This record gives sequence, structure tokens and C-alpha cells, in this order.
Amino acid sequence: MRILHVASEAYPYIKTGGLADVVASLPRAQAQLRHDVRVLIPAYRAAVSRLRNAAAIAEVRLPGLPGFVRILTMPPRDGSPTVWLADYAPAFDRDGNPYVDDTGEPWDDNAERFFLLCRVAVAIVHNEDLLDWRPDVVHCHDWQTGMVAPLIADSHDVVKVFTVHNLSYQGIFPRSTFTSLGLKEELWTMDGVEYLDQMSFIKGGIVFSDWITTVSPTYAREIQTSDLGCGLDGLLQHRADNLLGILNGIDYDEWNPATDSHIAFHYSADNLDGKSRNKRACMERWSLKGRADTPLFGFIGRLVEQKGIDLLVAALPGLLSSGYPFVVLGSGDPALERKLKEIARAHPGQIHVRIGYDEQMSHQIEAAADVFVMPSRFEPCGLNQMYSMRYGTVPIVSQTGGLADTVVPATPKNLSVNIATGFVFSEFTADALTKAVDQSVALFRDAQQWRALMQCGMNTDFSWTHSARAYLELYQTPSTSSIPGEKHNTGGG
Ligand code: ADP
Repeated sequence: MRILHVASEAYPYIKTGGLADVVASLPRAQAQLRHDVRVLIPAYRAAVSRLRNAAAIAEVRLPGLPGFVRILTMPPRDGSPTVWLADYAPAFDRDGNPYVDDTGEPWDDNAERFFLLCRVAVAIVHNEDLLDWRPDVVHCHDWQTGMVAPLIADSHDVVKVFTVHNLSYQGIFPRSTFTSLGLKEELWTMDGVEYLDQMSFIKGGIVFSDWITTVSPTYAREIQTSDLGCGLDGLLQHRADNLLGILNGIDYDEWNPATDSHIAFHYSADNLDGKSRNKRACMERWSLKGRADTPLFGFIGRLVEQKGIDLLVAALPGLLSSGYPFVVLGSGDPALERKLKEIARAHPGQIHVRIGYDEQMSHQIEAAADVFVMPSRFEPCGLNQMYSMRYGTVPIVSQTGGLADTVVPATPKNLSVNIATGFVFSEFTADALTKAVDQSVALFRDAQQWRALMQCGMNTDFSWTHSARAYLELYQTPSTSSIPGEKHNTGGG
């Protein structure tokens, strides 16, 4: 199959979160299964600076757009798919984050920027001569690409798939934006992209795609409820026959403690010596004190409400006074950043807080920590708990979304049959989190039991192979419900 992935980020070109990891590793897994896969992302300034031997291979002229969009690419690495970067300086050649400005506010031209990305994808579908290639499947990711499906609704020979990585980001803009983008009036309906009198990019993807997927089976169910449906639960229930959850995998080359170039000592499930050496070295570097019989706790993530960092902040003073050392890496909400820095100042030697984005340190934390804390309010899939298990770092997670689907709780029964991989708490309170931490400390003191827990996580298969196949199967399955006003696509590929 010829598959085009369209997204707003892909590692290593640009990454702000798990989306970038998925858009790197899913296409690669599909390419390795011998499909013809291409990835289209914006040519942000930061992404272009990472290109080596880049060439402009095409110019896309779009009606009403001054100048043209260049398509940049580089010779693909062995086994990797070709990546195309849509280069239009006024939209993407600027410093900083892909979505927000220095003050944390969304760029005020986000609708225009990502609509442009959508139009480039549409041009690739409509004009085979442009890149001498035309996809059988267009697989779009998150709201930034939500307007692709409505614009190719007439292309019945192309399978349209839309993956929701996080329903709480929807791309909502005023009616005036809809008008200025020049969209056809017939899209301004409840069955189109109108949402409470505003324009919704994500609705475009959900309404007009043949298949909607999300990144874990539990999240696929949760988004059909009013609790986690973010106002779209009704629409998602309506499309339930064409909605399913496919669990993300992780990149086994990028995240492998036996070969990871970011960590000082390599190790594996059969030889765990390197893990304790990483812990000792990192604790020294991070100026952390701690007793040998006490686990080192780690947290990595965006400092936003979703990640339950407020719960951790509430629990931290108590946990630190119990003598549990912590390392925290993240950036996001300025108030949460300040709070964490305050806690660090009040507890020298007990907690190391690094505010910022640091790929290398994230690997080092996974290698050095004994326990990874991920108390998310909701979590579509989550990658860090899987990286943790692969690194023998036992996760403590809240019972939600992909966390519930990937971590097997350390109940006495699961421990006795050796299938437990972590700690799961269901009540979303600082008390419940503290109890889970206490439970992990107790189990840590039983070296044999702990090793079994680590090894069980390390030996669980979180690779992409299974999920990549599940997507390929989906592309070939005829979708059942109809798209408004259109003859629906009966599959293909
Ligand atoms: P989300 O996509 O909601 O941010 P995920 O757990 O799916 O959450 O993926 C987060 C990814 O981003 C992981 O690869 C994680 O290691 C990385 N990450 C998040 N914050 C940071 C940071 N401050 N420094 C380095 N990596 C980070």
C-alpha cells in the first residue's frame, strides 16, 4: 500500500510530545513491513536546521496563496520512510514552539498555518504528477490535519484514517476564520465542521474519515462518555462503528537500555548491574542523597493538568519528608514550574527538578530511576510508562486510558503468578498516590519480588509490530457508516 501520514510533528525533526514519537515509529514499522510510506510535516525552522543534504523536490501552488510551498526532503535512512517537509516561510519559518509563542499563547495564525499543511496533503492526493506518487491511504493525526478529510471527501479511491492522539486539543476557531479560509459554505453545518457556532478542525477528521482511531482501547471507550468526551462524545458515539483503539507501540531502537547512547551503563533483563550503576552515577550528578533500600522516583512530562502534576505537587512534601528521593523533568504551566522549583529549594538533596525539554536526560531518568510516577488525569495512551517498563523502571500510574491498558497491577494474585508490571491507583487523590508510593517502597525492599516485577515489564512486548499490522488491516477493511452527503468509501488499498 502507498500510505501518506500527515502530522504536525515527527521525531527527530520536531517533537513536543508523544505524537512525534508515534509519527516517527509507526510509519517506520509500516515501511519495514514493505509498504510504501511517506510522511508530511511542516518545515518549521527547527526542523529544517536538522536536515542534512536536503533538496527541494517540488513546488506546490495553491490558489490564493502568494508564492508557492516548497517540498523539502532528504535521502531516507535505511528502512525509514521518506519524509516531506512543507516549506512556506510565513507559516513555519519562525523560532520557538510549533503551536505557541513565547508567552505560551497559541500563534494567532495557527488556523492558517495548519490549514496550509492540509492543503498540501490534498494537493498530493489530487495531483499525482506533483511528487510522482499518489497515496492509497491518507492517515492524518490530530486536529492540525483535521481538514484534510473534508477536502478530499470526493476522492473515493483513497482511504481516509484519522487518529486522535488527544481529544482535548481540538483546533477551535471563530466563524470568521472559516470564512477567511475560503471553505465551502456546505461544510458549515452540524454534520460538517461547525461546532457550537465555531469552526472545529478535529470535527473535520472525525466526521469525514472512513476510520477514526485513537491510541488505546480504553481511551476509545472513554471518549464516548461525557466525562472524557470533551463535548464530542455524542459525535463519537454516532461514529462508534468506525472508531477503534489501537495501542501505540514504542520504538525499540530508540528506547533500548542495552544500546542507548544517552546512558552511561548498558543493561538488560538478564543483566541488571548497569541499572544500579546508572542510579548511583545520576544521583551523584543530581546531588541526591538516598538510602540504598529506598527507590529513586522519576517523573518526565509536560507540566499540564492532564498529567496530574498538581497531584504529585500536593503529595511531594510528604513523600520527600519520608526520605524518598525524586527527579523531575518537564516544562509547561508556569505556575506548576514555579511550585516545583519552590519544593526543590525547600528540600535540597532530596529532589532534583529540571525545568526544560531534554531528550538525553529523559533517557537517563528512565535508566536511573527505580519507579516512574505517572498520575495522569486522563491519558490517551502514554509512552513514558512503556519506556519505563522497558528500562526496568516500575511505573505507578492512575487507572485511565492507555495506562490501564499497559500496566498490570501488583496485586497479591498478579504477583503470585508473575504477571504484575507496576502499581495502579484508581481514586484520583494525593492520598491514593501516596499509598501507591508506599506500596512500591515496601515491595522494593523484597529484592527478589522487585526483580521479578522489573523483569516482567522488561520482557513485555511493547514493540510496534502488532499495532502496525493492526493499522494495515484496518486500511483494508471496508468502513460501514456513511459520510454526510457522500457515497462512502468501501475501503481499498
Ligand atoms: P504526551 O504526548 O501527552 O506529552 P506521552 O507520554 O505520550 O505524553 O509522550 C511524551 C513524550 O515526550 C515522551 O517521549 C517523553 O519522554 C517526552 N517528554 C515530555 N516532556 C519532556 C521533557 N521535558 N524532556 C524530554 N522529553 C520529554
